[in-house]
Amino acid sequence: MQSFTYARASALPDVLAAISQPGGIILAGGTELLNWMKEGIVAPERLVDINGISGLDRIETADRGLRIGALARMSDVAGHEAVARDYPVIAEALLKSASQQIRNMASMGGNLMQRTRCPYFRAEIELPCNKRRPGSGCSALAGEDRGMAIFGWSEACLATHPSDVAVALAALDAVVQVASSHGARDIPFLDFHRLPDDAPERETVLEPGEVITAIEVPASPAARRSHYLKIRERASYEFALVSAAVGLELEGSEISDVRIALGGMAAKPWRLSAAEQALHGIAISDAAALRRAVDGAFGDARPRRHNGFKVELVKRAIVRALQTAGDIA
Ligand SMILES: Cc1cc2nc3c(=O)[nH]c(=O)nc-3n(C[C@H](O)[C@H](O)[C@H](O)COP(=O)(O)OP(=O)(O)OC[C@H]3O[C@@H](n4cnc5c(N)ncnc54)[C@H](O)[C@@H]3O)c2cc1C
Ligand code: SF4
Repeated sequence: MQSFTYARASALPDVLAAISQPGGIILAGGTELLNWMKEGIVAPERLVDINGISGLDRIETADRGLRIGALARMSDVAGHEAVARDYPVIAEALLKSASQQIRNMASMGGNLMQRTRCPYFRAEIELPCNKRRPGSGCSALAGEDRGMAIFGWSEACLATHPSDVAVALAALDAVVQVASSHGARDIPFLDFHRLPDDAPERETVLEPGEVITAIEVPASPAARRSHYLKIRERASYEFALVSAAVGLELEGSEISDVRIALGGMAAKPWRLSAAEQALHGIAISDAAALRRAVDGAFGDARPRRHNGFKVELVKRAIVRALQTAGDIA
């Protein structure tokens, strides 16, 4: 491992100054970053520890919405009473992530910045991977593609994004607040993660020198009646094969507003807008009509050799998640 320096910052301006120069990288919970360093995926010159910045871990709720500080621990957000009550999809996605020990350490900002679980990207002996070494090729193209993307992939990269809570935040139209030495800006959640195109090494729109400071989630009836369904190879401590985050508003028994985002399907949480439109006016008890509306939204799906099963699996997951959300009082 390359030598590096470590500094603990106590104020945001110190962090912004430290990472405005190349070679500096933020350390939050360290549950991802330290693994990358050990595996040789990154080799920073300077670690800038943000854990001493007071207030960055705050979780605030108000009538208009929820504000989650970037340093809030996954376990604190999952266990927050108002989050569980008014944004259940967020709490559920977090509780189905990783393990209790990791959730106690891992921050929300770090969660959004986690990188793909593609086995070639994380291989101990370095293999061709455009994400790890741009221009080296993609081992998954002729290799193992069972867990890979269905939507939005390119010949440069087939990988999916692994975060669970990102899928919930995408469904609820969250906003990521970032700061740099040049000022602050808000990024709509659906624009935060990037599709691979010809530059899979760039996974978010975050510019060098920018720090996530908070995530804002607007309050809505659909957020209150929301659910996260995660399907994985084993029941716990496993990343999603596919997942569905849904939020619903009902008028009587008919759907008047619905949000659907999918995990395990693309390099970013995948919002299924076509299904959202088709579901308007459908009775939540009409399983066949729900399924027809969902079926029509997969025109852009491009399964590969071994991952076509994900299409049927995720369609069933969406319908089940809608039915579960429909049962919320
Ligand atoms: C065994 C294991 C199982 C897991 N299972 C799941 C799972 O099922 N579902 C799931 O969603 N996740 C899972 N995770 C991922 C886990 O949630 C992340 O490792 C964690 O959220 C990262 O947060 P951190 O604070 O530890 O980040 P760090 O490791 O400190 O940082 C990760 C990256 O984020 C950057 N960063 C951190 N904070 C900021 C900020 N405020 N602004 C800008 N950049 C920042 C760092 O510079 C670094 O590049 C798993 C992880 C492990 C190790
Ligand atoms: S799918 Fe992406 S991450 Fe995996 S080997 Fe190919 S380029 Fe690398």
